[in-house]
Amino acid sequence: MQQDPQRLNVVFGHLHEGVLVEDAARRVRLANTAFTELFTPGMSPDDLVGVDCDAAAVQSAPLFRDPEGWLERTRAIVARHQPVTSEPWQLADGRWIERDYYVRLHGHEAYEHIWIYRDVTRQRAAVDAAVELAQATERTGFRDWEVTIDRMARRAEEVGAVQRGSMAAVKVLQMDLVNAELGYAGGDELLVTVLAQLRERFGHDNVERLKGTVFGVVTADADPDRLLRDLHEVLDPTRIEADHFVTLSTAIGVVTTGDITDVRTGRELFELARYAVREGQRHPADLVMDLRLRNKARIAHELESRLPEALESGEFVLHYQPIVRMAGTRTIGYEALVRWEHPVHGLLAPDAFIPVAEELGVVARIDRWVIEQVCRAARDTFPDDATLLGINLSTKSAADGLALVQVLRDCVAEYEVNARRLVVEVTESAVADDLPAFITVMRKFRSVGVSVGIDDFGVGSSTLAALRLLPFNYLKIDRSFVIDLHDARVQDLIRLIVAIGHTFSAEVIAEGVETQDQADLLLRCGVGMGQGWLLGRPALPQP
Ligand code: C2E
Ligand code: CA
Ligand code: CA
Repeated sequence: MQQDPQRLNVVFGHLHEGVLVEDAARRVRLANTAFTELFTPGMSPDDLVGVDCDAAAVQSAPLFRDPEGWLERTRAIVARHQPVTSEPWQLADGRWIERDYYVRLHGHEAYEHIWIYRDVTRQRAAVDAAVELAQATERTGFRDWEVTIDRMARRAEEVGAVQRGSMAAVKVLQMDLVNAELGYAGGDELLVTVLAQLRERFGHDNVERLKGTVFGVVTADADPDRLLRDLHEVLDPTRIEADHFVTLSTAIGVVTTGDITDVRTGRELFELARYAVREGQRHPADLVMDLRLRNKARIAHELESRLPEALESGEFVLHYQPIVRMAGTRTIGYEALVRWEHPVHGLLAPDAFIPVAEELGVVARIDRWVIEQVCRAARDTFPDDATLLGINLSTKSAADGLALVQVLRDCVAEYEVNARRLVVEVTESAVADDLPAFITVMRKFRSVGVSVGIDDFGVGSSTLAALRLLPFNYLKIDRSFVIDLHDARVQDLIRLIVAIGHTFSAEVIAEGVETQDQADLLLRCGVGMGQGWLLGRPALPQP
């Protein structure tokens, strides 16, 4: 301060915390703008210099919600030279502040008192909200999610629901409407009523409020239809609440375990019910979970909870299927096809998890992993520079696509791959979704130097006009054409696709070639390249 008071002032002036320094006689030596903004807005800090602090404290006490308390405490702190940190005070206008106090001593004599003040109103509001929420959830029977779900799970096992009972998740929908009608307290009240009614019907311990507006119910009854009927009886949608007429709308998901032998825990059962509710919300109807949905729910749960670690720990593998020039059966490349070697569910085909990953919005992580693996394999496993390598990408959005272009660019550089060997396969249906965005992505891929193949061609709905705009190098004829190859009209169609391919200087590849007859017919239709069990099954690469 002695050497460069000007500079010190600049620093003080920019602090967000209010600083006040008093001298031995308790006169203001220094204050900053943040301080005056807190207590005397509009006043310059310089005007405070020399002011008697005790007198000022008396004068400003009414600013505090508890003026006497504040004055007394301030005097005590100064008298005892007692350091203080983060002492909270509420101002009369509702703001909350915190203050620190430090004293600088010469022996027992204080020669400087330093106060630091900060406005903590916002932080305080967050804490208050949390406390309020905690109290509200206590009132309404909502407990900690993990605890509740474990309790439910134990209960499901106790009542035998896991072995032969059912479990339901019930979600009260459109709470925003209810809250608008009844206020938040009224909304809470409604949920409490729902809980009470469910408990009355199914037994107190068999019902919990689980998360937000979701309730869990376990029963030993294995008949899903009866459970649904009972739930509807209890959850009568038309009701009078606090003199208001309210319509209760719900989504109900039921899992019945009567015929399931592989559900291991109540917890898992419950996750399934919750998933059923999610699905039910999408197709607004009550949902009894069937086998297909149950597997999907499981995969979704796995993808949500541990995809990164599964990718990391080598549970995903790529199989490579030969792409063959049929006249002579020379392998000119391979398509990489992903599989998930799940530690519990066994080997999963991509159709079991790719669509779910797409739905959950996590498929780009898998695609990224595939790109990197294929580039690495191009260097280490398939070093022949003439060998093509097909990569399936599910570019559902242009944004994903552009991010993947970057990944591809990086990997091509890192593994020193000749980009021309890589064929990015995108399905025809993706093309039709948003053509302009798709064209942009394709052009970016091409700018990396890779080739582009249109997968499942013939079953999507891309127009010839669209094809004209797409930079593609391969057309892969969908397997369904090969299956119906005996039909003369299908053969005509294939000749047509071949002609389209030639028009755009693209190679045509037939998928799903299983028999020699098919291979011969395809050759006769002018299809030069094929892929299928006849020509080679997908397999781990042979080093
Ligand atoms: P796709 O790209 O049309 O792949 C061809 C599918 O047909 C593969 O199934 C392959 O195993 C199968 N296949 C090959 N030859 C024959 C045959 O002669 N007969 C029959 N019946 N099937 C044959 P897969 O590996 O189960 O893949 C299914 C789909 O999953 C793929 O269809 C592709 O759309 C997607 N997929 C596969 N790998 C990946 C990947 O790494 N990333 C992404 N995003 N999707 C992938
Ligand atoms: Ca493909
Ligand atoms: Ca295909």
